[in-house]
Amino acid sequence: PRIAVGMGTCGTGNGAESVYHAFADSINTRGLGMNLARTGCFGFCAAEPLVNVYLPGKPLVILQRVQANDVPGILDDLASGRMPTGLALCKIEEWDHITGHVRFGVGLPEIPHWHEVPFFTGQKKIVLRNCGLINPNEIDEYIAIGGYQALYKVLIDNNPDMVIEAVKASKLRGRGGAGYQTGIKWEFLRKAKSERKYIICNADEGDPGAYMNRNEIESDPHSLIEGMIIGGFVMGATEGILYVRAEYPLAVHRLNSAIEQARECGLLGDNILGRGFRFDLQLVEGAGAFVCGEETALIRSLEGKAGRPTPRPPYPAEHGLYGCPTNINNVETWYNIAPIVIKGPGWFTETGSAKSSGTKVFSLVGKVNNTGLVEMPLGTPLKTFVYDVGGGGAHGRAIKAVQTGGPSGGCIPQEMFDTCVDYESLGQLGSIMGSGGMVVMDEDNCMVDVARYFIEFTHSESCGKCIPCRVGLDKSLYYLNRITQGKGTEADFALLDDLSRMIRDTSLCGLGQTAPNPVLTTMRHFRHEFEDHIRAAR
Ligand code: SF4
Repeated sequence: PRIAVGMGTCGTGNGAESVYHAFADSINTRGLGMNLARTGCFGFCAAEPLVNVYLPGKPLVILQRVQANDVPGILDDLASGRMPTGLALCKIEEWDHITGHVRFGVGLPEIPHWHEVPFFTGQKKIVLRNCGLINPNEIDEYIAIGGYQALYKVLIDNNPDMVIEAVKASKLRGRGGAGYQTGIKWEFLRKAKSERKYIICNADEGDPGAYMNRNEIESDPHSLIEGMIIGGFVMGATEGILYVRAEYPLAVHRLNSAIEQARECGLLGDNILGRGFRFDLQLVEGAGAFVCGEETALIRSLEGKAGRPTPRPPYPAEHGLYGCPTNINNVETWYNIAPIVIKGPGWFTETGSAKSSGTKVFSLVGKVNNTGLVEMPLGTPLKTFVYDVGGGGAHGRAIKAVQTGGPSGGCIPQEMFDTCVDYESLGQLGSIMGSGGMVVMDEDNCMVDVARYFIEFTHSESCGKCIPCRVGLDKSLYYLNRITQGKGTEADFALLDDLSRMIRDTSLCGLGQTAPNPVLTTMRHFRHEFEDHIRAAR
């Protein structure tokens, strides 16, 4: 028997540490021959602590909301060959880890299959394929389910152009927000002529309400490492850097430990898998400035300079870290590489919409019943996220809007929930997909105050280099404060509108260019709420 306690940050925040220790103590005291492991998060954060239990020949069962005092009963059941069904959330009979297929067992008709649980409705786990199922601290578990097979294949084939063509054909778009074609970006770096090239993983996740990357790293660090080694080989880089925000200590710890294990196994270093390829990774902790998620600011931060953006061109692919050609991809982009290598671009494009293939992981948070990480095919309607997966408004309240894309995104009203979640459709509404934050607002939320919150955030995170963003956001916050405090006038509204467009059109970097989005979308879709505030001030 195996017991695995979900111990990502969300699990430990809900008491998984005491659950783990209760299992360890009881197994030891009773002298039971059971394997106890730590895993990451299976995604349903609202039901943490999650515990996986497995008896040979039976399905894997995921238990929910497990507390330390549930442990004796669970062990009683397992010790007598029964599955503890009382706390069961779902069962898994077989699982496709992309590079390895696992059959657990069949039976237990009283427990729903994982995809029959409303929270998992329509979810397809490509990026999250291993999260919550394997022990992130053990490279052996990753290898046992087929990990590093994609790297092996790429090194044996020794045909980088073929891999780039596959990534291009997959139409994989950067998952950090901009949605640029990954294969084309890779081709730029491959063609760059330089003795030294760098690849970087941008794990500086900073949007309020977004924690996809944190969970992915905490739960499955080797998929990220494998994607980056493949990227290094294909693009001709010998050094890779993982830029991870220091506020993610568990992710930093697990990633550092995984890098060390990969090095010990000959997967990093001078002669990877005996194929003569040299590549190594180092992790750098970012100090938590939101603007350092912008590529040029991130590069300056890595160089030891103040994390302030610089104008483009030149682009990092020509003149990046220390002046060398550099490729930067988001965490989630790297997670898609091994599956594309193993299953091919045709398989990848079967999922998603015509222009946005594959899946995207979202952190669904706010005023919904079911919160957690949701991996959906791109092009899924917004209403599926909110009502089917999210289970509708918490405490029976009516949902009013969803904010996508964090402080760079916008608010989408309930009347537009038929909108498909992909790069183009969200852009048409004045929002963006961003890195995947999805914050649900209900009838109790004041949308003007929501816009004010996001402007306060970007105002405090602006690096101050250019006037439109530095001064413009300061003035925007001034007008929004006046309006929400009941002092606003029609003139304030008009000035805020003009100012927002000016900031969007003239700021130097993406932070300033997108910062007005929450205000502009709120003005567009919730103008009456501004008018209510202004009328009340008369
Ligand atoms: Fe700095 Fe804002 Fe200008 Fe970007 S737009 S360079 S964050 S001041």
